[in-house]
Amino acid sequence: MVKAVVGANWGDEGKGKITDMLAEKADIIIRFQGGANAGHTIVNDYGKFALHTLPSGVFYGHTTNIIGNGVALDIPVLFKEIQSIVDRGVPAPKILVSDRAQIVMSYHKNFDAYEEERLGGKSFGSTKSGIAPFYSDKYAKIGFQVSELFDDELLKEKVVRVAEQKNVLLEHLYHKPAISPEDLYKELQEYKEMVAPYVCALFLHNALKEGKEVLLEGQLGTLKDPDHGIYPMVTSSSTLAAYGAIGAGIPPYEIQKVITVCKAYSSAVGAGAFVSEIFGEEADELRKRGGDGGEFGATTGRPRRMGWFDCVASKYGCRMQGTTDVAFTVLDVLGYLDEIPVCVGYEIDGEVTTDFPTTHLLEKAKPVLKKLPGWKCDIRGIRKYEELPENCRKYIEFVESEIGYPITMVSNGPGRNDIIYR
Ligand code: GDP
Repeated sequence: MVKAVVGANWGDEGKGKITDMLAEKADIIIRFQGGANAGHTIVNDYGKFALHTLPSGVFYGHTTNIIGNGVALDIPVLFKEIQSIVDRGVPAPKILVSDRAQIVMSYHKNFDAYEEERLGGKSFGSTKSGIAPFYSDKYAKIGFQVSELFDDELLKEKVVRVAEQKNVLLEHLYHKPAISPEDLYKELQEYKEMVAPYVCALFLHNALKEGKEVLLEGQLGTLKDPDHGIYPMVTSSSTLAAYGAIGAGIPPYEIQKVITVCKAYSSAVGAGAFVSEIFGEEADELRKRGGDGGEFGATTGRPRRMGWFDCVASKYGCRMQGTTDVAFTVLDVLGYLDEIPVCVGYEIDGEVTTDFPTTHLLEKAKPVLKKLPGWKCDIRGIRKYEELPENCRKYIEFVESEIGYPITMVSNGPGRNDIIYR
């Protein structure tokens, strides 16, 4: 069976933890979109890890971890990350890279930085991992596919074409040093040497025929999807489970379960409308207590923007994913609050709606908040739903009825075993 693990919100919902947990019973874990621009933090028997590009199944000996064709593959980052987990005692994971994945080049990262510099205060808050320039090139059909590394004639012709095009922008738009076809060719040869032993083509196709258990691991969440999110403050590849079929290269009907990870409060990174956002001391307190050791970016270390749980955004987030199960995470963090505000509607031009709007209307939305009583205790360590405090269960059940999708897993700590099944 194929299951997708995806985010309902702005990312950082705890997909890494849920994937690591579910990987115990999976054979194959695939990243299907995005690149090294966001991170998953995972706490397990080996310690605490921040993964940026590796699938979250790498901590088990029995799994095969695939970088799917939809991923922005940063080869040096991939190998650095493998080394970093091996250095900390994790057995060398089994990794495969799709022959159709495309490669993040050093100039993609440079272009990302140059564009942020050019935009100045109007920048998108990019992590400068080259993701937007990478996907632009992919769709402009001048990206380098892993398979092309093995066709020397093609490469030699293509590096000339690409350098010529990039140099127009470098010279006239950014006023930065030009790139040479020779340097590009050399960079690609280095990548070829590194990636050659890992390249695969038909592995997944055969695995599905054999009935293997497969997890598709998403990055970020619905609200960062380029079509269905808060455009233009979105990422450059689709964050939806539906894209899992494309970014992994499997038929859509193979995805039988969509596990949408939804955090018990909100956080976001980068610019863009964030209706239930809170500020000042209230936000600092939640940020400090949030996640595992505070809400700070796993890739950038940037403090995350904080907010109350947003039923409007999460209902939409779950709907667009095609949710079969909600994994409701980081609930333990809210145990300090006397009352917990929840955003139950958006007021836009004097009218209240529970339907998530397009961005120009979203910018005008004001949160309609409802306060639920807190439970004022530590719920970590609890393993049975009935043993949760009554107000905590009421919070879960209220959220469930507002979003309209079944919460079948409640995560009450960062560790693999901190989970309550309902
Ligand atoms: P991802 O990108 O969706 O995997 O999310 P991140 O890893 O960026 O952020 C989630 C953070 O919350 C990580 O630091 C996790 O270790 C942590 N986390 C996940 N689930 C829980 C939970 O139930 N409780 C607590 N306290 N932390 C959690």
